Amino acid sequence: MLRPIACLGILSVQFSLLSYALYAQKNETAKQEIQITYTSISGITKVLPGGDRSKKMIVLVPDTNSKDFLQAIRDLQVIDYPTEEVLGAMNHAFDLAIASGGYEHQFFVGKKGKVSIIVQGLKDRIDSIANRKVRVDLDSIKGDEPAYDVHTHGDSLAGDVIPYFKPDPSDTDRLAINFRGRRQASVILSFERKKLPNLSTGNSTSVPFGSGSSEEKFIYTRVIVFYNQKGTIFKQYFSDFTTFVRLHAHEN
Ligand SMILES: [Zn+2]
Repeated sequence: MLRPIACLGILSVQFSLLSYALYAQKNETAKQEIQITYTSISGITKVLPGGDRSKKMIVLVPDTNSKDFLQAIRDLQVIDYPTEEVLGAMNHAFDLAIASGGYEHQFFVGKKGKVSIIVQGLKDRIDSIANRKVRVDLDSIKGDEPAYDVHTHGDSLAGDVIPYFKPDPSDTDRLAINFRGRRQASVILSFERKKLPNLSTGNSTSVPFGSGSSEEKFIYTRVIVFYNQKGTIFKQYFSDFTTFVRLHAHEN
């Protein structure tokens, strides 16, 4: 059994430890007031101090060790965490690209999170007139400046020899002028094309639409591509990306 004096001694030690813990915690909070929550595309999260405001970002690397994760952040293979508004604009841009027969469409996401209007460009690129329209909308009308840009590669255009829907950046996309002042990856919304199995030879039990014709049939799946001047950083099915974004949106 402890004597009263010993009990007091223990209490006093506990109190000192508690005071120190509170002091340390307060200090830590002050130091880390501005911090960025980075989530890798496999869902690993790390909180690091830095930046000019606290925010969430996606690091465009798959399941990874610490070294790759930090290197990807240093290499600017990152993007501001997309809001529902951004996901909606991406969906809309896909729809517009399909509805226009594959013409490229573009919009900007700003550093403050503003989303520009979506403009239509040409079949194989965004021309300077279209590009200027989105910049004016984001900069002058919405009072923001680009964090990253998003453009579509249309689905197949009947009779076209060159497949514009290629889910990777074109040579034009990789021109240095497109990356001036950028600290984040750029985005292409594109399609993966797969041939449907032939009914007469395939083992598939699904019946492709318009069966009976000898024409080749394809299915197109929406793909999101992240790239920088060097090329593609990471790509995945758009439906998987939206599921991922919504799954981790409320963490931290
Ligand atoms: Zn492109």
